[in-house]
Amino acid sequence: MSFTLPPLPYDENALSPVVSAQTLSFHYGKHHQGYLTNMNKAIEGTDLEALPLEDLIRRVAADPAQKGLFNNAAQVWNHTFYWNSMKPGGGGQPTGSVAELVKDSFGSYDELKKQLLTAATTQFGSGYAWLVKTAEGKLAVTKTPNAETPLTDTSVTPLWTMDVWEHAYYLDYQNLRAKYAEAVIDNLFNWEFVEKNLAS
Ligand code: FE
Repeated sequence: MSFTLPPLPYDENALSPVVSAQTLSFHYGKHHQGYLTNMNKAIEGTDLEALPLEDLIRRVAADPAQKGLFNNAAQVWNHTFYWNSMKPGGGGQPTGSVAELVKDSFGSYDELKKQLLTAATTQFGSGYAWLVKTAEGKLAVTKTPNAETPLTDTSVTPLWTMDVWEHAYYLDYQNLRAKYAEAVIDNLFNWEFVEKNLAS
């Protein structure tokens, strides 16, 4: 049995102008779909086909011989997580218990935003900026290169991510990664998705 892509959680033009319909169309329809197609080819006829995606990624992560499969499978998961990390009309400060957690972990929302921007702009080359929950139950900002994902780190729970591969922003912002990152945080950040991941 092969995997299929979940549909985008919104229309392709729903995040415009922060992320244009053209970017979403290529990013979801070509890049994300491409990772899925490659993964399905690699697992065809193997026992990996029967695993949930998260388990498959964790299983192959430690095996250097499976690096190609890991890269494609992790990119399938990372992109679905990224789509859900954004929503039309998002952004701004969290409320309720998440607001308390932000204050407790960073001192202020502004400090969290600063750390997310720093992670997004200092990730050398391709990768992701993340908000995660630590083993101590606090929030923390991390970054990962290429297809790497906090899913393989048992000490943290991924809560939110931003794709900072050039394909995520080049059509809309050219080389201005910081402008893309700040626009996503200010206008699309999906706090409900963070709440959902904190509760799971
Ligand atoms: Fe991407």
